[in-house]
Amino acid sequence: MIIKIKRNRPHLSHEFMGYLDTLNCEIKKIEQMNCILFVLTGDTSSIDIQRIRAFRIVDEVIPIDDPFKLSSRAFNPEDYIVDVSGVLFGGDHFAMIAGPCAVESKEQIFEIAKGVKDAGAKILRGGAFKPRTSPYSFDGLHKKGLDLLLEAGQRTGLPVVTEILDPRDLPFYEDVDLLQVGARNMQNFPLLTALGKQEKPVLLKRGFSATYEEFLLSAEYILSGGNPNVILCERGIRSFETEIRNTLDISCVPMIKRLSNLPIITDPSHAGGDYQLVKPLALASVAAGADGVMIEVHNNPQYALSDGPQSVKISRFKSIAKDLNDIRQIIQGGLNDETHD
Ligand code: PEP
Ligand code: MN
Repeated sequence: MIIKIKRNRPHLSHEFMGYLDTLNCEIKKIEQMNCILFVLTGDTSSIDIQRIRAFRIVDEVIPIDDPFKLSSRAFNPEDYIVDVSGVLFGGDHFAMIAGPCAVESKEQIFEIAKGVKDAGAKILRGGAFKPRTSPYSFDGLHKKGLDLLLEAGQRTGLPVVTEILDPRDLPFYEDVDLLQVGARNMQNFPLLTALGKQEKPVLLKRGFSATYEEFLLSAEYILSGGNPNVILCERGIRSFETEIRNTLDISCVPMIKRLSNLPIITDPSHAGGDYQLVKPLALASVAAGADGVMIEVHNNPQYALSDGPQSVKISRFKSIAKDLNDIRQIIQGGLNDETHD
């Protein structure tokens, strides 16, 4: 259950707070965008909703059965739109994020940034602090990588997204537009909690084996800290199939949209693990209603220091961007037709 306090009513009366104390459930107070909310969890079945509504400071009481609350569509039926330095995700908005797996050099990131910008990407990606399965693999240029990414973003006018591994690194990310939480960190609760306490939007990737509920509960950590700006990303899950790196769970897109009002994009590069799969998986994502895609692009994939096999060349990215645009136009026409059940 969520109790929404009327805006501009910062004074919570003793009577109201005293009443909350009598309730036999867990209560968390959340301050989000000048709005005070109380999230009640546990056994809320015996709570007298009318009694709570009678308090003058209460705007709304919303009973929500889902374990996730603030990210639930039951709480907020309207699509939530996340603004990443002017690039919008959610509602009718769609954007492409593109760039290399990792920033490797000035020449590399500058060439790719220009190429993806010309092809219509709206945000530049590039890893600087890379989570690698093996401690012997290239794990990014760290602070130097961040600086090069930011410089490439400035040159092209593209906002940037990059992964953060450790909340103690947050000061390095001051000029980054969108903070990425990788699949391996989807349940890194101290990291999620820290990102909930700051204002930058967060791109939260789904863990390899996370259920939709676990995925949304991770988003909930950020939202309940006071940061409402979360973009979800389906990036493929582990399945029994060994021919492909991961299995892109297309159902995740419409299901998350049913359960939650947060925007969701997909990452067809990490899903397929193969540059030839990127286009069909990206097109399928858009057809399923994704609010964006994130694609790994490299100027010289054969020599990429990470994820070369799944990185597309700039020329292929241009062709993907064009086809995505075509599919979107068809989908927009189709979605406007509400004559079907
Ligand atoms: C990435 O986007 O660079 C990445 C490491 O992705 P994931 O966390 O989905 O594996
Ligand atoms: Mn990668």
